[in-house]
Amino acid sequence: MIYTTHILFASILTLLIIGKLPISPSVEPLQAIFIASLGSLIPDVDHPSSYINKKFWRLFSLSGGFNSHRGWTHSFLGGVMITAIFLTYLIYTKGKVHFIVPFFIGYCSHLLIDSLNPSGVAWFWPSKRRIGIRFIKTGSFEESMLQIFLTIVLFTMLLIDVGLIKVG
Ligand SMILES: [Zn+2]
Repeated sequence: MIYTTHILFASILTLLIIGKLPISPSVEPLQAIFIASLGSLIPDVDHPSSYINKKFWRLFSLSGGFNSHRGWTHSFLGGVMITAIFLTYLIYTKGKVHFIVPFFIGYCSHLLIDSLNPSGVAWFWPSKRRIGIRFIKTGSFEESMLQIFLTIVLFTMLLIDVGLIKVG
């Protein structure tokens, strides 16, 4: 999927989950959205023309180890490994270790939304078996429709969050 779809879905999933977790007082919603968005872009480092690779001069793909798109970075284990690297970074820089939660949510949100794609996702890598619902092609009309839907959901959630829409 396109990076904006990933950012939208990561933001929605994070807003849904983060407030229900005990870490919520120490992580602001906007911080959580930002970190989850970052996490949601990471799996596509194995794709040469992905947004994150264009932004970072293909640093990641040039570093080797990313032979096939939707390889190990598109798996649950890949998410755990990269989140562990992020945790090491947070500990080293004395950052908030709680940030790994939105990061991991964002990462998993990427795998979830990519599972709607015809090529599916090898969730249980090293098993190569790809799992997916397979009905939305990247860059297709259906993806545009999905983006519009996700944008409406996200804006409604943000309006509820700031109290402009009242529920109950
Ligand atoms: Zn992907």
